[in-house]
Amino acid sequence: MPAIIDGKKISQDIKDELKEQVSLLKEQGKGVSLAVILVGEDPASCVYVRNKKRACEYIGIESLSYELPEDTTEAELLSLIEELNGKDDVNGILVQLPLPKHMDEDKVIKAIDPRKDVDGFHPQSVGALSIGLPGFVSCTPAGIIQLLKRSNVEMEGKNCVIVGRSNIVGKPMALLMLRENATVTVTHSRTKDLPAVTREADILIVAMGKKQFITSEYVKEGAVVIDVGMHRDENNKLCGDVNYDDVAPKCSAITPVPGGVGPMTIAMLMYNCVASANTTEE
Ligand code: NAP
Repeated sequence: MPAIIDGKKISQDIKDELKEQVSLLKEQGKGVSLAVILVGEDPASCVYVRNKKRACEYIGIESLSYELPEDTTEAELLSLIEELNGKDDVNGILVQLPLPKHMDEDKVIKAIDPRKDVDGFHPQSVGALSIGLPGFVSCTPAGIIQLLKRSNVEMEGKNCVIVGRSNIVGKPMALLMLRENATVTVTHSRTKDLPAVTREADILIVAMGKKQFITSEYVKEGAVVIDVGMHRDENNKLCGDVNYDDVAPKCSAITPVPGGVGPMTIAMLMYNCVASANTTEE
């Protein structure tokens, strides 16, 4: 049977390490704070924001909550971001996506000071990652690197195939795996003969948003499989992009859904907030 990569435990370890760091920062008179902006009442976004605030509370990060009505104008949101950019005691600014349709997400993300871009979505953060400069890294791919490292999965020289090329998962994931000296292939909806490509993977990372799409024919014997997908099955249970029961017997290690990649995203958001506080000048 494969090793189960336990994202719940690893994310808890990271949160405990951060809790320790925040308490040390507090002893030096430095607080850590995250401004969380939610526009409208999208139910999934409300749940995500609640979970982020809960994680802040656990670690000792102050969360400043801005819950704005659905009909907030883009100009009003931009002006709030500008105000938060100017506050020295705000270390991170998070705008929960998706935004209502009347707002331009790219413009809103660009308005965040890159030094407070704890989601790692600002073009400057993405550019820094691509040329190996310091900067915030998108939380889900950063969490996957932690899962692999803390599960002692060797990345150097391994064939890593990523399914999906989104700006928040697939592309930054490819850059991070390159940084770890893996040989990286990125696939997408126009890739020809996907199973032939994914079967070359020592490490297969799936972020395609297609419920239980990846079956054992896509996987090489002994591969490590990371499932980023998040869906509900016909019984309303959480499941991923990978058909776990079919794929797991073929793997050396695999992430479950839930309890794999999911909990890591928030842990890495917290990590970025603490890193931001650590780099803030006195
Ligand atoms: P996305 O923006 O919808 O991107 C999906 C990617 O998959 C696209 O690049 C698309 O290719 C590719 N794709 C779709 N169908 C394909 C196929 N048949 N063969 C090969 N590639 C295909 O999705 P995302 O934001 O990256 O998210 C992916 C999944 O991860 C979703 O289920 C999402 O809910 C989940 N997610 C989870 C977390 C977490 O914290 N656990 C965080 C983020 C996302 P094209 O570019 O050609 O269209």
